[in-house]
Amino acid sequence: MENMKTINPNCSWCNHNFHLSEKQENDLKERLAENGKSIRIRCPECKDTTIYNILINNETIELKYEKEVDDRLFCCPVSACIGFVEEDKDGKVFGCSECGTEWKNLDKVHQSIEKIIEKYPHRKKVYQKNGEQWKSISLDEIPKGYYSKVNNEKV
Ligand SMILES: [Zn+2]
Ligand SMILES: [Zn+2]
Repeated sequence: MENMKTINPNCSWCNHNFHLSEKQENDLKERLAENGKSIRIRCPECKDTTIYNILINNETIELKYEKEVDDRLFCCPVSACIGFVEEDKDGKVFGCSECGTEWKNLDKVHQSIEKIIEKYPHRKKVYQKNGEQWKSISLDEIPKGYYSKVNNEKV
């Protein structure tokens, strides 16, 4: 176990590729010692946590997350929130589980997007206007540094 190498994981939220801290390496060793199949790790960039499956091949340990079905429509247009707007198909509302904001319909989401862009120009990078409608960029292509800028917004 001592000479096994851990492949740097990708954060499931911001896709940042990072090196495990010494503490995380130790936690991982502990999980392996108790035969754990998964581990929760916090991303040093966006500070969100992901549960990774621990995969062992020969000399390497790989941390992999399973992509869930992606219901995310937009980056959340609320100050300092790095969550996402998702549609709750049962309740017919739109909400962000990170900050708890709800929107009655898409028009309301679009209004919030216009406001946040006015307030913070860096938000322009994750929304696109298509005619009168706002669309999201592909959420795999959120620009580098976006989350830290949002983290620094005033609430
Ligand atoms: Zn991250
Ligand atoms: Zn939010």
